[in-house]
Amino acid sequence: MTTEENKVEFRGTSLDLISVDDTFYFRCTKCGKCCKERDDIILSPYDLYRMAKYLGKEIEDIINSYTRWHIGESSKLPIVMMRMRGEKRTCPFLDKHKCRIHEAKPAVCALFPLGRIAQENGDIRYLIQPIFCGGHDKRQTVREWIAEFGLEESEAWFRTWQETIVPLVRRVNEIYVKVSEMVMHQLEEVLFITIYLAYSMDEPIIPQFQRNIAKMDEMLTCLEELLEENDTREEKD
Ligand code: SF4
Ligand code: SF4
Repeated sequence: MTTEENKVEFRGTSLDLISVDDTFYFRCTKCGKCCKERDDIILSPYDLYRMAKYLGKEIEDIINSYTRWHIGESSKLPIVMMRMRGEKRTCPFLDKHKCRIHEAKPAVCALFPLGRIAQENGDIRYLIQPIFCGGHDKRQTVREWIAEFGLEESEAWFRTWQETIVPLVRRVNEIYVKVSEMVMHQLEEVLFITIYLAYSMDEPIIPQFQRNIAKMDEMLTCLEELLEENDTREEKD
């Protein structure tokens, strides 16, 4: 995805970017099609935390029961996705055209058909995906569309996530090319636990995430220093 100030290149199409108080036309007819044949529902720690809270469970239970994870090819970070079921690849939370976790559905679902991006200056903007469902006769602002989702907290989370992930990806990629496969797998496990699992359900997630990332920062700094010492020793040898 590439962006200019008011445009974004999305899957080969140039789309307008809009702000939270801009309006768009869309009416969901609740057909449930967007909950099937999908392999792209990415879940952030914030999504998992909200789902776990709503269902009265721990994040680990949600991860084990409803998701799968892999290491991103270019990010080298763990990515958690909804684990669809059956031949029709249906979301495990779809129940007769209704979402069982409507009030705590993941951001990707809550926003749909909107997408969301963080610009370099930190502004958050929205785009309307070119989709062929629902009606296009209802006018609302982005703010109204995602009112149930808790816009302020969701945007605060998204901003924190973007600010954290971009430098983390660069750093982890630099480390990956210097370590053995065994160290790489250990690092993947630590990243997975730190980013997705190490949360108490009794505290808000954003400060916990920031603390987890600060601890990981210390750990990565130690690893980087070790690798640098190694490089220096090899150069001398
Ligand atoms: S979480 Fe809810 S809205 Fe999202 S795909 Fe599943 S059933 Fe549909
Ligand atoms: S967003 Fe579109 S596909 Fe999804 S339930 Fe509404 S009308 Fe159907």
